[in-house]
Amino acid sequence: MPFEEVANAFSSMEGVTSRIQLTQLLAGLLKRTPADVIDKVVYMIQGKLGPDWKGIPELGVGDKLLVQSMAMAYGKSESDVQRLVDKLGDPGKVAEQLAQTGGHIKSSLLAFMGGASEQLTVSRVFDSFMKIAYATGESSRDLKLKTLAGLLKDAKPIEARYIVRFVEGRLRLGIGDATILDALSVAYGGTTAVRDVVERAYNLRADLGEIARIVAQQGVEALKGLKPEVGTPIRPMLAERASDAKEILAKVGGRAYVEYKYDGERGQIHKDGDKVKIFSRRMEDITSMYPDVVEGVKDAIKAERAIIEGEIVAIDPDTGELRPFQELMQRRRKYDIDKMMKEIPTRLFLFDIMMKDDEDLTTKPLPYRRKVLESIVQPNERVVMSNYIESSDPDEIMNFFLQAISDGAEGVMIKAIHDESTYRAGVRGWLWVKLKRDYRSEMTDTVDLVVVGAFYGKGKRGGKLGTLLLAAYDPDNDVFKTVCKVGTGFTDADINGMYDMFKPHIIDHRHPRVISSIEADVWLEPVKVAEVIGAELTLSPAHTCCMDTIRKGAGISIRFPRFIRWRDDKGPEDATTEQELLEMYKRQLKKVEEKSTESEA
Ligand code: ATP
Repeated sequence: MPFEEVANAFSSMEGVTSRIQLTQLLAGLLKRTPADVIDKVVYMIQGKLGPDWKGIPELGVGDKLLVQSMAMAYGKSESDVQRLVDKLGDPGKVAEQLAQTGGHIKSSLLAFMGGASEQLTVSRVFDSFMKIAYATGESSRDLKLKTLAGLLKDAKPIEARYIVRFVEGRLRLGIGDATILDALSVAYGGTTAVRDVVERAYNLRADLGEIARIVAQQGVEALKGLKPEVGTPIRPMLAERASDAKEILAKVGGRAYVEYKYDGERGQIHKDGDKVKIFSRRMEDITSMYPDVVEGVKDAIKAERAIIEGEIVAIDPDTGELRPFQELMQRRRKYDIDKMMKEIPTRLFLFDIMMKDDEDLTTKPLPYRRKVLESIVQPNERVVMSNYIESSDPDEIMNFFLQAISDGAEGVMIKAIHDESTYRAGVRGWLWVKLKRDYRSEMTDTVDLVVVGAFYGKGKRGGKLGTLLLAAYDPDNDVFKTVCKVGTGFTDADINGMYDMFKPHIIDHRHPRVISSIEADVWLEPVKVAEVIGAELTLSPAHTCCMDTIRKGAGISIRFPRFIRWRDDKGPEDATTEQELLEMYKRQLKKVEEKSTESEA
């Protein structure tokens, strides 16, 4: 296909502000485009060389190189070209003008640019852009210059305008994905009536060029049976949001899966034999940032090919507990990946599967998908299934929600499990509903808590006591009630000395003055007091301090607690009391309420 046809179409679209008219012009162009180059035309319309997730490099042609290419193509001096650019303010127009007037090119330059002229085709233009994008190394500048000048030399004036604008990244036709989908539907379906089919296909394979090629080659009908493809990202299914468990249950059909809503980064994972790719929520290829996830997946996933989804979360290497999102974000970098991988290890919590070998699972209900997923996952240190319950009881859901928060998750995802609970790619709907907290508060004061038990650590703390179970004092009953587990904030020296320090106090059963619903690895006499601080006080069904006081079935706990120092100046009865924690929690709530009235006012 001559590139001139595309350039002419671009020219007629320029300045059109009516979307309907733009769609018609675009549909006309797509209809005239042969199937074997339609993908290239679609990418060019988007001002791209392919979908973002392919990670095709930028063209890397700066202003200076552009001027040089024009000077070379049209036999002008660089300063002449620069003057024209300054005058017209649009290098595309300059190229167009210079191509019109023509120029005298020295034969030596002509040879440098690739010899005699020939008509430009879509393929040649696109392939030259690719060559420019992928040119690397010492001679890359020369190669870019030569390739671009070669194109411009052969370009008709109107072609030169759009070649230059594309290279500059200033095509600005105002055509978004939605308009392209409309135009494809009109061009190959006759009307926008087939738009749903085209859109569904695009949601399953986020590559507009590829969708256009299938439609042009095989017709819209072929899209109906389209399956996801390993290697091509699926547009993620999205959730609605609500704040009341009962209301959510009604929306999702009365009974649901309630899963931890992990606070990390969504990862869509494509496994093809030994090859693993990870795409982000926005479908960027983030594989290189998470080599540990890649290794984990290779080991854990027992299917030759699969597309699965989960949340990548930062994990405390010593305790295995969840860490906040901000810590994970430090992993989002191009350099020092190995170092960060050791400092901030991750774990992948899997919650869905869309494809297993050749079976398209997006059309299957969630319980079926979960079963298939479980059947191919052999959990390891890096990859596990998401924590969930099946429930139709709002109270049970709220307790699970509180448990999720105090474990460091953001809340829960409540998911429909009826027959229609398919994976709706790219769609935000009421099949998934997120239940998050509508408040966030801060713990401003430290508390002094009594150590009543301990747990063995993980990783480099393997075999050593690394996490402590802490309790507040209840003077009325003279007992200690648990508040949290703390494994963060200890130095290596603290950890190395921990066993010896506690050895005299180890007992083989829970101390009679300790009220705990958690089983410790090692029980201790309540003698030592630790000062800790956390992100905030939260409710938790796992801890016994203030149990049933604020909420039935829940106690008060500390989220993301951190050890500060030993308080050897305090005896266990001098520790923060249950009543004090209750007051702190109430003060915290009051602050949150004040903040929200302030923001409402
Ligand atoms: P959205 O993705 O809905 O536009 P957002 O980007 O602000 O909104 P959230 O509101 O936090 O994200 O909620 C959705 C995200 O929650 C998902 O994209 C996913 O990354 C994350 N998530 C964590 N746990 C789960 C889970 N068990 N099931 C589904 N998603 C989960």
